[in-house]
Amino acid sequence: MAANPKSAAPLDLERIRRDFPILSRQIRGKPLVYLDNGASAQRPSAVIEAEREYYERHHANVHRGVHTLSQEATDLFEGAREKVRGFLNAASTKEIVFVRGTTEAINLVAQAWGRPRLGKGDEIVITWLEHHANIVPWQQVCEQTGAGLKVVPIDRRGVVDFDAYLGMLGPKTRMVAIAHVSNALGTVLPVEKFVAAAREHGIATLVDGAQAVPHQRVDVRSLGCDFYAFSGHKLYGPTGIGVLYGREEVLDEMPPWQGGGDMILTVSFERTTYNHLPYKFEAGTPNIAGAVALGTAIDYVEGVGLDRIAAYEAGLLDYATERLSAVPGLTIVGTAPEKASLVSFVIDGVHPHDLGTILDAEGVAIRTGHHCAMPVMDFFEVPATARASFAFYNTRAEIDALVTALGRAREMLG
Ligand code: PLP
Repeated sequence: MAANPKSAAPLDLERIRRDFPILSRQIRGKPLVYLDNGASAQRPSAVIEAEREYYERHHANVHRGVHTLSQEATDLFEGAREKVRGFLNAASTKEIVFVRGTTEAINLVAQAWGRPRLGKGDEIVITWLEHHANIVPWQQVCEQTGAGLKVVPIDRRGVVDFDAYLGMLGPKTRMVAIAHVSNALGTVLPVEKFVAAAREHGIATLVDGAQAVPHQRVDVRSLGCDFYAFSGHKLYGPTGIGVLYGREEVLDEMPPWQGGGDMILTVSFERTTYNHLPYKFEAGTPNIAGAVALGTAIDYVEGVGLDRIAAYEAGLLDYATERLSAVPGLTIVGTAPEKASLVSFVIDGVHPHDLGTILDAEGVAIRTGHHCAMPVMDFFEVPATARASFAFYNTRAEIDALVTALGRAREMLG
């Protein structure tokens, strides 16, 4: 991924690795080589501590009590929202909705933005490389409203066909929902171009940023999208917390999705009035500790520096691509010129699941399967792939360990 070379000073890998306690684990008597960061990254001690400290010293429910703990919890929770706002460069904390993760964020948009607006003949444009989280919620809202799904094709490298995309935009298109980075292939989409084209037609846009925010700086205002979604657990934060960014004017016009406590101003049996943004979309007690610790994860990542992370991971990706390409019988699936730091691959005659099991015996954790992107597997005519996905705490020595373990697997299975 592109990085600003001026701020791309080398990382202090030893120090960084010490910050992540789990990285010193042994798995089956071997040092852990964790290469499944695309599924979920690991947490630094600071994040684990933030959650602990929150529960040990500050926990109470938010936005409700006048007592000290409730105010402390509220300040921490709202402080985390401000950190997310800064991280995405959103204009206001009103635009930052805490959700469970990317999946919930997209469902919220499909149901609260899409369902009341869409009708028969309307079209939603997605791409072929989407995660199921950015396919199924749109299919569901299509079933509910009579709208239809249009899918932009990809080529054999895993690049989305921009001209075909332009050809699909028309008076019936209501929403463009696209990944920023493909989890199955690593392709980085030029989302600025996609969003700009949609905006010219007055079409709403959603960007699934689950695989992008851990690897590159994201500025929602310069992107110009209406919605941007990501998950905390892929950004070195807790599970069960994520973010939906929505432009204030757009969120304002949407009805709430779920009803309950905190999302209301007044309730009577005759009539309920809804709370201001962003609380209108945060029904019930939120994952307070998760949000607070997500704020700490953002501090941590900013401390390391996203430009330095991008530059370091680009080096890891080049090294991994070179070493894996030299493994006999191995084919890389996803060879777009712009890729995030992950490599999907298949090996002749070896099922990825068998590969994953043998690698685990060597302490190497990779993901095997369809990566919640079955249409991508269909496109490349493979049932599954193996995927090594890197974080800034991974090393070239770990990539060497992966290649050695693959050699062993080939001897056993080939
Ligand atoms: N979108 C992409 C591109 C993903 O990679 C993932 C998770 O792997 C998701 C959405 C769903 O994220 P979550 O399961 O955290 O909601």
